[in-house]
Amino acid sequence: LRPETIDLRNTLSDLTHLLNRLVGEKVTLNLTHDTQLPKIRADKRQLEQVLMNLVVNARDALPAGGEIRIATETLHLTEEMQRDRAKVAPGDYVQVKVSDTGVGIAPDKLQKVFEPFFTTKRVGEGTGLGLSTAYGIVKQSGGFIFVESAPGEGTCFSLLFPVQKDEAPVPEIAAPKPA
Ligand code: C2E
Repeated sequence: LRPETIDLRNTLSDLTHLLNRLVGEKVTLNLTHDTQLPKIRADKRQLEQVLMNLVVNARDALPAGGEIRIATETLHLTEEMQRDRAKVAPGDYVQVKVSDTGVGIAPDKLQKVFEPFFTTKRVGEGTGLGLSTAYGIVKQSGGFIFVESAPGEGTCFSLLFPVQKDEAPVPEIAAPKPA
């Protein structure tokens, strides 16, 4: 793990070309950014893997084409947020949402999507490792990953990362004492 300070907007624009190729011609990718997005601390390569994974899943949910939206925003939690079984502490988070208007995930499968080897894809089409790997990577960055879905309407994955606190101020170098 190589955590670094990251501006997710830059990470996403670096990936845009690749993501556009991944989704193919029938799917459009729509990115919107928070203009004041704070930085986070994460492993850039791993984060790219997660984003690519979510986009490929969204594309596969849109066999007839459509739109995938990626949006970054700042989330200010004044009190603890309980979601699924997770407890998200109060504080500032950078949120990335990857949503599609695709086939959706059935309610009975929704809470299993982060489990290792769970897949809705046919044998040979998916390894089932994608979302559990994404979950692990997000956890390693102190973040959270949630999914909402309605069959026939679409799916939205939300990633939450704690905002990177101000980096420690560089200590002033003491002036040499006069002899
Ligand atoms: P769980 O998945 O059974 O995890 C129980 C506890 O094991 C977690 O407590 C955490 O301390 C640890 N744990 C599990 N997976 C990981 C991992 O990949 N990395 C690390 N570092 N620790 C892990 P915690 O955090 O209080 O979570 C309680 C429950 O809340 C979890 O049960 C899970 O059902 C849910 N949850 C936690 N984080 C997330 C999340 O990011 N997304 C979703 N959808 N659910 C979450």
